[in-house]
Amino acid sequence: MNVDIRISDLMIHFYTKEGMVRAVDGVDLVFNNGKITGIVGETGSGKSVLGLSILNLLASNAKKSGSIFYKDEELLSMDEERIQNIRGKEISIIPQNPSTAFNPILKIGEHINELFYYHEKVKKKSCKEKTLDVLRKFSFLSPGRIYNSYSFQLSGGMSQRALTAMGMALNPKWIIADEPTKGLDAIIRNQVYKVFKGLKEDKGVSIILITHDLMLARKLCDEIVVMYGGKVLEQGDKEEIFSSPKHPYTRGLIDAQPNRKLIAIEGMAPNLTNLPNGCRFHTRCKYVKEICRVSEPDMYSSEGSKVRCFLYDKSRGFEEGI
Ligand code: SF4
Repeated sequence: MNVDIRISDLMIHFYTKEGMVRAVDGVDLVFNNGKITGIVGETGSGKSVLGLSILNLLASNAKKSGSIFYKDEELLSMDEERIQNIRGKEISIIPQNPSTAFNPILKIGEHINELFYYHEKVKKKSCKEKTLDVLRKFSFLSPGRIYNSYSFQLSGGMSQRALTAMGMALNPKWIIADEPTKGLDAIIRNQVYKVFKGLKEDKGVSIILITHDLMLARKLCDEIVVMYGGKVLEQGDKEEIFSSPKHPYTRGLIDAQPNRKLIAIEGMAPNLTNLPNGCRFHTRCKYVKEICRVSEPDMYSSEGSKVRCFLYDKSRGFEEGI
């Protein structure tokens, strides 16, 4: 059975007072089983909404179309009862912020107990042993203390580890991790890196890593997807993307890193209620051509990557690349 996650022509728009927010706007992707795929891009690029859409965790004002297939079942239109059985057991999401993901009036242990109680119908008194076991596996030296702690009593790194333990409690095949290193210092970021590396290498978990942290993506991921204005602008093998970025936006993101030139991309990310015509990046692109202002580029193949930029459309006769 195919256990990749396959997304076709996905559109997720939100009705708001300011207008229609086109958060995800025609995305085709395959997340390959057994790999860690990083989704990178600035705030507002649509990457978190894309992650949430896989488990149908979208706000009620979302208008959705397209399809997301997993094990030959379509997730986007699946009824709530069925998708409840997939959430946590088959595909688990580790949300962005531990301080809001945990209920402050429940202990860490109680959060994990509920998963066993709800999904595995484990008797309440047996849940605690299973939960302690999960905490032990995530290298908490005092699992009993963590079990009885509230999230606000833990450090940022410990909260993140507890959240990851909760996401892994039911041994899912897939993890969607949204900004797991956000706000953490370098030492804790390294711990998070080791946890995710172990999940893939020791437990065979497939991971979708949504992140601003390009250094983490470079260390951890096998494949990279670059999003901007609700679209995928580039995707490919990690080595190819980082050693030879094709899209001007990908190049800009990499050059803005502290370990590179630290040159920020000029201009602002587009307003998702009022996207520019043509190429969504044209207002910030130093390679812009006339065609870019009026037509939207397709995805073109170049050296193993796919890139949404007219410079790679061989039929136009531009000098290829940047
Ligand atoms: Fe720049 Fe044009 Fe390529 Fe868009 S299509 S990234 S504007 S060169």
